[in-house]
Amino acid sequence: MIYLDNAASSKPTRLALDSYAKLAELSFANASSPHKAGREANRYLEEARKRILKALRLEKTHSILFTSGATEGNNLALKGVAFQYASRGKKIVSCLAEHSSVKNALKELQDQFGFEVVYLPVNSEGKVDPEELKKAMDNQTILVSLMAVNNEIGSINDVKTLASIVHQYPKAYFHVDATQAIGKEDFEYSCADLLTFSGHKFGGLKGNGALCYKKTIKFLPLASGGDQEYGYRSGTVDMPGAYAMSLALEEALKELPAHKAKAKELMSALEKGLKENPLIAINSPKDHTPFLVNFSLLQHKASVVLEALSEKEIYVSSHSACDEKKLAPSETLLCMGYDEGRADNAIRVSFSPNNTVEEVETFLQTLSQILTEVKTR
Ligand code: PMP
Repeated sequence: MIYLDNAASSKPTRLALDSYAKLAELSFANASSPHKAGREANRYLEEARKRILKALRLEKTHSILFTSGATEGNNLALKGVAFQYASRGKKIVSCLAEHSSVKNALKELQDQFGFEVVYLPVNSEGKVDPEELKKAMDNQTILVSLMAVNNEIGSINDVKTLASIVHQYPKAYFHVDATQAIGKEDFEYSCADLLTFSGHKFGGLKGNGALCYKKTIKFLPLASGGDQEYGYRSGTVDMPGAYAMSLALEEALKELPAHKAKAKELMSALEKGLKENPLIAINSPKDHTPFLVNFSLLQHKASVVLEALSEKEIYVSSHSACDEKKLAPSETLLCMGYDEGRADNAIRVSFSPNNTVEEVETFLQTLSQILTEVKTR
């Protein structure tokens, strides 16, 4: 198999898997239990917190709570902060190109709870223009949610500049969905008041994520229960998963320069091949993350080609795995100014450090072959 869908999920690292297996077997007690075994599990949990905050250079400013992933983290950050600070104002600013776990959480806040949500467009490079953010901000704004790296096209937002605009408004908090950035694009994480991510995108296991938040922020919990995770996320914590994620994060950040150099080599081979094919047009901007590229089939249906690739055990995706079941064209691509045909027939290829140039070459050859075999749309 050739797996080129790492933005959807990637293989857990050996270190993460071994650590998970060891702790799940040896320290399986509930980390909230007051007995010795529980206290031992809790020690690992606290160590995982420290490791992650230190790796992200957030240990002085932020706290961390563990979630089941970025979807839960995004929901908790957005709804929790909105409900907590509703008396300060009811306006939230986000972007049309955000992940569905942000957009749908905000839709609920708008439709069910009367918040006003302003969605910024992205420019032709798939980025949020800081000038658009400036125009949208006002004294009623309590929350801004913008991603670091776009999951569909790999564009990189200037998070630091966006944060500085938000922070001119003392009532407004800045949430960054860093799911596609962590372990791939380093940035000043501390400029985010709330930061969310999923471990399975950088070598951890599925079902583990985190929400890092400035120590001064409060939010309303979405799940009530035994008050685990400082009362913000009740339920027994998956300590082995959280610990494995902390190791995967440390490893990903340590290896980031090497991983990025490898991704650049792979991306350069891939883009060279894509550009030579007149049936293909690249949608990602020039300075996109080297881990992910998005292109459209100009004459073929992406869904048919995806299936043909899958038959040959080559795995890529059409825009985001989470939106895969929806048949609508990509909103991000439409927003960038591409027409429906192009937005409807996009393919995303995303790398992990495990991929090779040979895999990229095989993908390109197979894709070219398929494009000569399957009928045009
Ligand atoms: N945000 C972004 C930018 C993502 O790419 C994803 C995963 N597709 C998520 C949030 C949701 O992550 P999860 O499915 O692990 O909760």
